[in-house]
Amino acid sequence: MLPIVLKFRLMSMAAAGWTAASSPVPLQAEAVATLFATHTAAPIELDLYDENDHQKGHVAIWRDGSVDDPTRDEIKRLFRCRKTHREAMIHHRTLAMLADVAERYPGKTIEYVSGVRLNRGESRTSPHRDARAIDFRIRGVQLREIRDYLWRTYTEVGVGWYPVGQFVHIDARPTMSDCAWTFLNGTNHYHPTWSYLARKPETEEPFMQARRGAGS
Ligand SMILES: [Zn+2]
Repeated sequence: MLPIVLKFRLMSMAAAGWTAASSPVPLQAEAVATLFATHTAAPIELDLYDENDHQKGHVAIWRDGSVDDPTRDEIKRLFRCRKTHREAMIHHRTLAMLADVAERYPGKTIEYVSGVRLNRGESRTSPHRDARAIDFRIRGVQLREIRDYLWRTYTEVGVGWYPVGQFVHIDARPTMSDCAWTFLNGTNHYHPTWSYLARKPETEEPFMQARRGAGS
């Protein structure tokens, strides 16, 4: 944690120097700068729980999805293939999305169902095989809310909603088209209504809500 602390101090000192030179109210400006520095200079901490192996994890991930070496090992271990026990590092963009969601729900544990899948039965094109996908839920938070937030906020992603299994699938797919689906009755239903609703501009929301109320 030392590098983070050092970085934070340097930023605070720089902010203090700037306010002394240019602001008649140095204390307030410095307080704002310090708050900003605190927010962006620290990684996001995640509490993880493995639904299958019942193991817990606590990791810190930077907003761009990068991690330090010990965390890298821990993430590889936590999200390893359940069937083969082989490890692969989860894509940094997938981790960035997971960290972003974690930051939205402070104090909540991310319960993950699946990460890396390297077993024979896994499709060659599966983002799980490529260590780009995680299936998860957050107890006490509506899956719909997580699903819509991720779909609205990110591009070059896959977002799958599994209402029966009670989890959301996310994957990073750089340079590829977005893909949204609902998994129901053993099948993926692509281009679901929720994916259109989640990305509609705010001004159209009342109309879409009316439609939703009508059962579409
Ligand atoms: Zn998945």
